[in-house]
Amino acid sequence: MKIAIEELAGCSGCTISVLDLHEQILSLIQQAEIVYSPVIMDVKEPPEGIDIAFVTGAVRNEENQERLKTIRKRSKKLVALGTCACYGGISGLSMLSNSVDIFRCVYQEVETGKAGNPLPQEVPSFLYRTFAVGDIAKVDYYITGCPPKEKYLQTILPALVKGDTVQLSKKSVCSECDRVMGSVDKWHLRRRHEGIPDREHCLLGQGYLCLGSVTFGRCGAACPHHNIPCQGCNGPSLDILREPCRDIFNMMIRRIADLTGIPQKSLEKEMYDVAHVMYPYTIGSLIMEDKEISHIRDLIKEGSSQ
Ligand code: SF4
Ligand code: SF4
Ligand code: SF4
Repeated sequence: MKIAIEELAGCSGCTISVLDLHEQILSLIQQAEIVYSPVIMDVKEPPEGIDIAFVTGAVRNEENQERLKTIRKRSKKLVALGTCACYGGISGLSMLSNSVDIFRCVYQEVETGKAGNPLPQEVPSFLYRTFAVGDIAKVDYYITGCPPKEKYLQTILPALVKGDTVQLSKKSVCSECDRVMGSVDKWHLRRRHEGIPDREHCLLGQGYLCLGSVTFGRCGAACPHHNIPCQGCNGPSLDILREPCRDIFNMMIRRIADLTGIPQKSLEKEMYDVAHVMYPYTIGSLIMEDKEISHIRDLIKEGSSQ
């Protein structure tokens, strides 16, 4: 069994999460040889005859696209590993700016850059938008998470390598959260820096925008457990994915309206920076953008002057 891990537009955190299997990686490499992974070994190109390719990162530029096509051709199965690969991830937020502004910011305006630096000519060109891996190539399995959590990978990776199927929870983050709903009287929207949430009650009920109910679980509700609202890093829950008439923004507005009795229109007006708050991990996915009621297309148009 030959496995490979390809890196596209991402931070390599998903590959590091494979290394976070700790001792279990020893039994994994007894059953499977890692033949290609630019992050963990010195190898430049994927060989032919790969059994399972794990692809991390989104498709943002021409090089990402070429590398994806190459590894798809050379692999029997392809796994989108991590939320960048599954839904475009945070690279998708780059669509809110045009490429000249992005290059200027990265090469000239950050502390390590210089105002007079020429913009690079030799880096691969951006595609007109970010794509998830499945928007460009056939994907056999999706493993979400930014990055996928260690406990989940410990179950799924050995099974994939053996060719077994495993039954895993398909529920939302809320199903893994042990907070209880408290009083929602005088509910108002709070930003994360406003106050310290109480640790027992649902964060959404306290006014914090917790996306747990619209987010796929399998992280053990890690953030609410640490008193931080879920920001949706595991990608959308199955009901959001399966229903054309459901979308993260609209579903959250409806949930808050049901909870508080505040009219949906008033809630919509209160929401600002919808791209970063509701879609930070999914804005780069055609699946999410094509939803009939998604706001994504308009947000991209507003944000980018390309
Ligand atoms: S999903 Fe998260 S951890 Fe993985 S490559 Fe993207 S940003 Fe990094
Ligand atoms: S909305 Fe957030 S805090 Fe409330 S139950 Fe769901 S995950 Fe927990
Ligand atoms: S709680 Fe939400 S943001 Fe935190 S790890 Fe889980 S899915 Fe990601």
